[in-house]
Parts: sequence; structure tokens; C-alpha cells
Amino acid sequence: MKRILAAVSVLFSLAASGLAQQPPAEKPAPKVTYIQAGRLFDGTGDAVREKMVIVVEGERIQSVGAAAETPIPAGATVIDLSRATVLPGLIDCHTHLGARADRYDPIYDFKDTPFQSAFAGVLNARTTLEAGFTTVRDVGSAPFLAVDLRNSINEGFIPGPRVVASGPGISITGGHGDLNNYSPQTRVSMFPEERDYGIADGVDQVRHVVRAQLKYGVDVIKILASGGVLSKGDSPGAPQYTVEELKAAADEAHMAGRKIAAHAHGAQGIKNAITAGIDSIEHASLIDDEGIRMAKEHGTYLVMDIYNDDYILGKARDFHIPEEFIEKEKAIGRLQRENFAKAVQAGAKMAFGTDAGVYPHGDNARQFFYMVKYGMTPAQAIRAATSNAADLLGRSQNIGSIAPGKYADVIAVSADPLADVRALEKVGFVMKGGVVYKDTLTGKSK
Ligand SMILES: [Zn+2]
Repeated sequence: MKRILAAVSVLFSLAASGLAQQPPAEKPAPKVTYIQAGRLFDGTGDAVREKMVIVVEGERIQSVGAAAETPIPAGATVIDLSRATVLPGLIDCHTHLGARADRYDPIYDFKDTPFQSAFAGVLNARTTLEAGFTTVRDVGSAPFLAVDLRNSINEGFIPGPRVVASGPGISITGGHGDLNNYSPQTRVSMFPEERDYGIADGVDQVRHVVRAQLKYGVDVIKILASGGVLSKGDSPGAPQYTVEELKAAADEAHMAGRKIAAHAHGAQGIKNAITAGIDSIEHASLIDDEGIRMAKEHGTYLVMDIYNDDYILGKARDFHIPEEFIEKEKAIGRLQRENFAKAVQAGAKMAFGTDAGVYPHGDNARQFFYMVKYGMTPAQAIRAATSNAADLLGRSQNIGSIAPGKYADVIAVSADPLADVRALEKVGFVMKGGVVYKDTLTGKSK
């Protein structure tokens, strides 16, 4: 009966607008899909609701309700996940889609063209999406690979997660983002006049590079506030950039309505970045009690990549990782996990980020196990990768939870991730923007 009324009202409105004789409007009504969720964790609280139905209209969620109160019309498109746990698409706030985890040998600094990274990015984007990550923040790639990748994915040209794109991480001369310890005759540069949009010294140069990156369409700025592990000749504990330089970068980013992330391992670099008004501290390996207190005060997110230590000290050796990098990782890897536990205990804001590309893309969810081992509840760890991550990205209105109006970014797993968070390492169903990209759960394999 309802359907007849609907049909009548459509005819009536067509007639009223004088279009009754015209061919149908170009845009068909958005497709409606009913997802039956056996268990639903919506990404916000601790609760799991059983026997729910998510109604998806086009690319967004129209409603979420109890199955008993959500009649499904005959002939409707139904996705039966009634034996699975359904969650929001996961978000990884620290990836490098253009990076390969078998490229540790320094020879690739000279052998690879940027096209190599682009090919890797196409493959890694798909792998990441199929692992259940429907949004990633890419925080460092050749100029402007992440922007192009984002655009190609948004056009529907290639499959991948939503990409929040940065340019190259902005570095001091001789810092984590520079090519160090080779002869001054060595040149690896596509844009020498702009120092590859990545090297800047002093407040004016920092402002210029941030503006230049914005000109080419980045969503977020990444700056390197301390030395790094996977770079030659610098120390992870040492600050890079002054507070004034970091503040100039943060101010430029914020003026343009963008967020800014700072790579920082050492305690002083972390504090400098927080003082400067940076939105998230990446790695935060050697954060001390004062740093944790400052992060809480300023509302700064910590994005601590506590899985990849396993890979750097394990498999990366097969790929000729320089001994210097291994020594640096040994010095900070265990401390980073302990400091993660302290930050969780203290109630600092945490968002999920893994440094994918250092280890193989697609294994992102392996970090959940460590987040729980070092003090989070499974629900807390999942929120770090859903609602909290969306908050850090400034995109809570669109992603990060299963609620009406949000993009229909929906995943499902057969085991219970709230009992064993490792269930998220085997995501069996992935929908992004209402489109199913993976389905090994409903029997309608795609
Ligand atoms: Zn990184």
C-alpha cells in the first residue's frame, strides 16, 4: 500500500512540475540498501547493540535502528551481516601509501623515480581499503603524490580509502626529511628550486613551503620536529626546528583551515610542537610526564605507532635496512610502548596511526593488539581508529561512526573484536560510501 501511495505521489509531483511526458530525470533515485547487523559497535561509546539495521541511501547512512523496528520492504537490497560484528570503517592517521616496506636499502634513494612510488600507491591504496581502512591520512610522500592519489580515488578511477593528503614532511636542512651523509655532489631532486617542497630553514622559508604545499592541494601539513629513525645522520631524540619555526608552520596551516601534524620522537621536540599549536604529535616515542601533561592541556592528539617495531627489528633486515636505523629503533621502540601506556593511563587524546609503508600496507590492524596490551580496552582502541581519528582529522561530520548522515563507511568481522581485538586483522566486509569493495561474509562474494 505504501508503495502505491509513493508511486502516486511521484506521478503527482511529476505532473505538477509539467514533466510527466518527459523522459525520467537524469539522476535516478539513490539506491537504498539495508545492512542487517548481528552486533553493532558504532564507534562512539562502549556499547554493542544486537540485531540492528543500517539503512544506506546512496553514499550515506540514512538511519540506524533496531531490526524489530525497521521493516525491510520486499525486494529491497539486503546485506546480511546478522552473524557478524559491524563497525565504522577504520581510520589510520599515519600512513605513507607511496612507500614500500621492502625498500630499506639506501640504493633506492637513487634508483627509484617518483613513478615507482605512484605505482606502489595504487596497489597500497587498494590493499589498505580491503583491510577495512576506509580513510587514511597520508603524512609524507613525493610532491604531490598523495594529492593525486586522493583525486584519482575520489574520481572513482582506482579503488582506495579516502585520503587526507599531505605533501612531503617539511624538514630542516640535514634533518629527518633531508638526504644526509652523501657527497655534496649527490643530487636527487625533482624540484630543485623549491628544494622538493620539503626542506625549509627559518620562519620565512617555513611559511613559504607551507603556502607552496597548500597551492598544490594538500589537506594537511606534516612537519618534522625531531630527528628520525629511518634517516641517516640524525638523532631521534634531538629537536629539529625552533618553536618559532613550528609556530609559523602551524599558523599558516590553521589560517588556511588545515590541520598540522608533527613528527617528534624526542621529549623536547614533542614539547616544542605542542607549544607551537600543532594538532597531532606523530610517534611521541620519548614523551615524558611533562609532555603528556602539556598534550592534555592543549588537547593535542598523540599518534603512536607501536606495532612497526616488530617489523623494523625483524623482516626489514632481509631488505638491507642500514644498521644505523636498527640501532635507533632498538633505542626507542620499547620506550615508545611504555610511554604509550603512560599516556593512556593519563587520559591523553590518542588517535590510531601506524606508519604503514614502514611495514607492509594492509597489516595496519596488527597495531590494535599492542594498543590493548599496553593499556587500552578494545573499545578504546577501536575508538582511536574511528571517532577519535575522525575528530583529529576534523571530519567527524562525515566519518568515524555509524550514524545517520555519515558516509556509509562500514566494515564487518566474523569474530568479536571487543573480546579479542585481533578480530580486526581479518576484516571480511568493506563498504565505502555505500559501495561494497570486499565481501567474504555474506556468501555473495565480491
Ligand atoms: Zn611516517
